[in-house]
Amino acid sequence: MSYVTPYLPQAGIDTARNWARSGKQYFIKAFEQANGECRNCQGNGVVYLVLAESGPHGHPMGGKVLTWYDGDGQTRKGWYVIGDTLAFVCPECKGLRRETGMYVLPPKRPDADMKKLGERMRR
Ligand SMILES: [Zn+2]
Repeated sequence: MSYVTPYLPQAGIDTARNWARSGKQYFIKAFEQANGECRNCQGNGVVYLVLAESGPHGHPMGGKVLTWYDGDGQTRKGWYVIGDTLAFVCPECKGLRRETGMYVLPPKRPDADMKKLGERMRR
């Protein structure tokens, strides 16, 4: 199966940028691809921004909410302690979950930021 990383609405991008300014990592939750559903949220109606409190850690720690990240060029592989998970209405379908047939321009992607977003988040 293949996963798609959705884009965030502007409010989500701003939140992610502010979080990154503190030196902490963030991830966007990827969804399993669902044909015929909204191409951004894959029919979920919402997109999730995950703010990592600390990480990466070499092993999972008890009593914490964690996510594993496989790593990429910018974000190292390991366990991350999740500080908060924020849900935003999908900017593509406005929460309707399906293609509306109306095309809106996505918000401008901050390229450097988008590259480090998680493609393969696991719980
Ligand atoms: Zn959507």
